[in-house]
Amino acid sequence: MTESKIKDVLKKHFKFDTFKSELQEAAILEISKRQHDVLVSMPTGSGKSLCYQLPALLYPGKVTLVFSPLLALIKDQIDHLLALRIKAVSLNSKTLTAERNAILTDLKTNSPTTRLLYITPEQAATNTFKELFNNMTKHDKVAYIVVDEAHCVSQWGHDFRPDYLKLGDLRNISSVPYIALTATAGSEVMKDIVSSLKLSSAYKTFRTSCFRKNLFYDVYYQNLLDQPFVHLKKFIQSCLSTQDEDVPKENQSCGIVYCRTREQTEIIAQNLRELGIKALCYHAGLKNKERLECQESWQNGDFPVICATVSFGMGVDKATVRFVVHWGVPKDPASFYQETGRAGRDGKASKCRVYYNRADRKAMEFHLSHDLAKAKDKESRKIKAQNAIKGFTKIIEFCETAKECRHRLFSNHFGEPPPDCKNRCDICRNKKEVDERAHNFLMRCIQ
Ligand code: ADP
Ligand code: MG
Ligand code: ZN
Repeated sequence: MTESKIKDVLKKHFKFDTFKSELQEAAILEISKRQHDVLVSMPTGSGKSLCYQLPALLYPGKVTLVFSPLLALIKDQIDHLLALRIKAVSLNSKTLTAERNAILTDLKTNSPTTRLLYITPEQAATNTFKELFNNMTKHDKVAYIVVDEAHCVSQWGHDFRPDYLKLGDLRNISSVPYIALTATAGSEVMKDIVSSLKLSSAYKTFRTSCFRKNLFYDVYYQNLLDQPFVHLKKFIQSCLSTQDEDVPKENQSCGIVYCRTREQTEIIAQNLRELGIKALCYHAGLKNKERLECQESWQNGDFPVICATVSFGMGVDKATVRFVVHWGVPKDPASFYQETGRAGRDGKASKCRVYYNRADRKAMEFHLSHDLAKAKDKESRKIKAQNAIKGFTKIIEFCETAKECRHRLFSNHFGEPPPDCKNRCDICRNKKEVDERAHNFLMRCIQ
């Protein structure tokens, strides 16, 4: 398959002049060869769908099977493809008989006109599907087997779906290349995907590096500071000082202070306001209308600082977040990565700071052991609770005793080699000072 043919399809069928990233291009070139299984791990919004939708058009007469966890996701994809005049269909519990028959008839012809068939994993277990699949593989009519949201195979993923585990069995019947896509990049999740889907040993991985080189990480200890709120205020002012007056209000620098509880969001916002910082608080206890107003005032730049529980952030897409503070203690490496990852989306230098304290650690530990006790012999809940404890333990090490680059918390978690930090964290910048601070903190705690 030539590169120019692929570029033609990109333009003619998908109306894009270029690939979204080098990684997207590399994945598409590899997948187009149909030689190896491929695992794609890129963040949400980075264009994973195209990685199989484009190659699906390169093999007329063959169909690409796509497993996707939710009917709503399937519908979105199909509407999108139909708008591009690409023949995509779905077999699911809601498909009407007449439509189902028309789909099956086409798929059973020698040269089906359907390009992509979307199915939920539950459907894969039905006799109709098994019979269809046998027919299609016997006559070499399947281009790819795609597993979207592939983290669903893993108990480490946040939405484990037992039906996904069966998808690896299709491997026994056919040698069609598997394409697995996920936005969850933890190394345990990746291992589970490879083993449950039985990816062949020569599988190729395309994965975005987790290292965000424009983010600077450091940790301070609340109990070593004379006036923690004044310290926080000065930090905020220094982060926002690069404010460019000519820029419209909504594009000016802003930031987020994450807190563990509602009360904390209120107390910190109040204290910051008293120190002259325009800060709001946001938490699940506010009425819907208040929450929206609050988010709006932050979004449009009226209030550049928001003190929030972690419920704030879903769907927040502001490019000019210059700092993310965790007041207290983050939950686990993955959440911490996601929350601090809201800083510096525009690629400009931004700061991520934890103001750590032992009280929050104790509160979280109480909460986590309570969850574990409540799980009793419910296996999946127990695994979740145990994972939560493991994740939290890593965060405690990060905050209290870290000796290595802060970015390694993430590269270890995501199973990547350590990045070249170039002083993008307090430890790499001045290890001696950090060691001293951590030492003083521990001494203060045992007093
Ligand atoms: P993901 O599955 O990784 O979350 P999607 O496949 O849903 O991402 O794509 C996210 C958005 O990126 C979609 O709006 C899609 O049309 C767009 N997109 C994908 N590839 C390109 C490209 N090469 N150029 C421009 N936009 C693209
Ligand atoms: Mg997707
Ligand atoms: Zn470092």
